[in-house]
Amino acid sequence: MNYCSNCGARVSLRIPSGDDRPRHVCDACHMVHYQNPKLVVGCVPEWDGRVLLCRRAIRPRLGFWTLPAGFMENGETMEQAAVREAMEESNARLKIEAPFALFDIPRISQVYLMFRARLLEPGCSPGFESLEVGLFHEREIPWNDIAFPSIERTLALYFEDRRAGRFEMHVECVRRRPGEQPGSRPGVPP
Ligand code: ZN
Repeated sequence: MNYCSNCGARVSLRIPSGDDRPRHVCDACHMVHYQNPKLVVGCVPEWDGRVLLCRRAIRPRLGFWTLPAGFMENGETMEQAAVREAMEESNARLKIEAPFALFDIPRISQVYLMFRARLLEPGCSPGFESLEVGLFHEREIPWNDIAFPSIERTLALYFEDRRAGRFEMHVECVRRRPGEQPGSRPGVPP
């Protein structure tokens, strides 16, 4: 951040009095511009045993596969965000069933909430942000081409729970970078 969104003057990075970490502070109007984690909401849409994946047409991770998910917009609920993202990325109509996974991702200051969802019809097609979309059985999932560790983890937990015959709510911290293999950093959980 270089300029103040309140008055347009330069900002500098310093610790405001009474605070304990650097913030962008306006040199002219003294507004403190706090930056806080963002919430990404998505879902695992299922149809007849298969899961909907989208191949990304946008950066980052262009060309890699993901579940429909994205940043929440102001004024919407988490369920509305998940439904909207699925529609935008895959033209899929779905019913949200239940929250499924909640991830802290402190490396990128994001929190992910993933729901379980049922497609209302098998029809889906690529939206503006997708190169292609498709329904995948577990054995068909392109594990080496999944865009983000959080999505890979969501899918792994989903199939694990489905095999066990009961879905739970999972709360975890995701520390890996995209492309890093599970267990490749000693002491860091998958
Ligand atoms: Zn200002």
